[in-house]
Amino acid sequence: GAMASYQTVNPFSGQVVGTIALMGAAEIEQRLAAAESAFPAWSSLALAQRGQFLHKIAAGLRARRDELQRTMTAEMGKLRREALAEIEKSAAACEYYADHAGDYLAPQPIPTEAQRSYVVYQPIGCVMAVMPWNFPVWQVIRFLAPGLMAGNVALLKHASNVPGCADLLREVVAAAGVPQGVFDVLHIDNEQAAAVLRDRRIKAVTLTGSERAGRSIAANAGDQLKKCVMELGGSDAFVVLADADIDTAVAAAVKSRFDNAGQTCIAAKRFIVVEPIADTFVKRFVEAAKARIHGDPQDEATTLAPLARGDLRDELHRQVRESIDKGATLLLGGEPVAGSHAGYQASILDHVGPGMPAYEQELFGPVAAILRVKDDAEAVRVANDTTFGLGGSVWTADAARGETLALQLQCGAAFVNSVVKSDARLPFGGTKRSGFGRELAGHGIHEFMNIKTVYVA
Ligand code: NAP
Repeated sequence: GAMASYQTVNPFSGQVVGTIALMGAAEIEQRLAAAESAFPAWSSLALAQRGQFLHKIAAGLRARRDELQRTMTAEMGKLRREALAEIEKSAAACEYYADHAGDYLAPQPIPTEAQRSYVVYQPIGCVMAVMPWNFPVWQVIRFLAPGLMAGNVALLKHASNVPGCADLLREVVAAAGVPQGVFDVLHIDNEQAAAVLRDRRIKAVTLTGSERAGRSIAANAGDQLKKCVMELGGSDAFVVLADADIDTAVAAAVKSRFDNAGQTCIAAKRFIVVEPIADTFVKRFVEAAKARIHGDPQDEATTLAPLARGDLRDELHRQVRESIDKGATLLLGGEPVAGSHAGYQASILDHVGPGMPAYEQELFGPVAAILRVKDDAEAVRVANDTTFGLGGSVWTADAARGETLALQLQCGAAFVNSVVKSDARLPFGGTKRSGFGRELAGHGIHEFMNIKTVYVA
């Protein structure tokens, strides 16, 4: 049975942000019907016309950025400057797909003995999106901008702690003049979401979230024979070779691990450091991480945000305690922050090894795990000794050597001398239990399209 309503809580102050009523069957039905009836006209528009709407969405995101930022910060605790950067990145992605989707969607001629043979990309209808709270605007725009340009329509079930962000996104899209039914939000629980996915009007589902949610949604999609894309968790390796520039590597390590309070799927989580430079790297990393100070995320001086919810902080602390009990050395932090509802100190664990949560599981918060290895070969072996396969990075003065290692990492994105980041121009996604399918670029936009062969003899 569904809860009738629930409250959202500010993760810094602990105060109630709002009360959200879950939608009932009639409201859900109305949105499914609107999506189905919006699809024919939307998918028939010329690309340039859909592009104009995307440009207006970009302008709307920028026009309402302060309100969006305050909502993100209140609901999930993101630092003000990080929220503003996320909104700008999202607006830029709308513009990028408005201007470049045509390159990805052009028919592809394939010469055969026929008069004409080619592939066309045709939209499929309504895609359901189940999204997480960690980048509450970007995660939505990442699927929505290419999806709308492809000619699909969409229904969003956002994470339950960011309903205000979801509603603002709906308002921005509506204010851009996008016809009713092309994009809407469902305030529903996970049981209702499962029923929506089974509805015949939903053609496919995209999930960004945890492995647990992935198993449930992919099983349901499989049962219904509906296509799904799974963007799940990660425990990215950050491999520091003996010749790496330590200053550059330390600055990148701190940024990747502690931005967004460590709640980034492609954050560096396992710092795999070769012995010759391990002591130097670790000492400098601890010094630099100490400068990350937790506080009110709305305050410009704060450099470490709270976690998004108290239960997530408690789970992270349990993983830290268990790793220490199993032999990890605590070099920094390791405690919740007093006076903050969901704050956790910037933390570093050294001598992390197999069997510890910090080695085996994703640490979705500001806790770095140091894994010491003897050489490059052992670094690759340890980097791949995980069930995850989202991203990874290699740090070295020798770009060719870095590239050789990058090619050996079992993951969806390997970067050399750069933190792993998403980019509207590059495909994004995981291997192993980090999921399957891709978002962004040509590979992403084609996931929810009929890749249709046309053959004229
Ligand atoms: P989550 O708990 O799995 O939630 C993600 C979304 O899935 C939410 O909308 C959630 O709704 C929904 N959900 C959860 N369990 C479900 C179920 N059994 N059936 C249907 N829907 C379900 O994950 P999170 O804590 O928000 O996000 C953190 C995780 O996402 C991390 O593992 C992170 O690495 C991963 N992530 C991956 C990527 C990527 O691109 N690969 C990007 C960002 C984050 P409720 O809130 O209502 O439960």
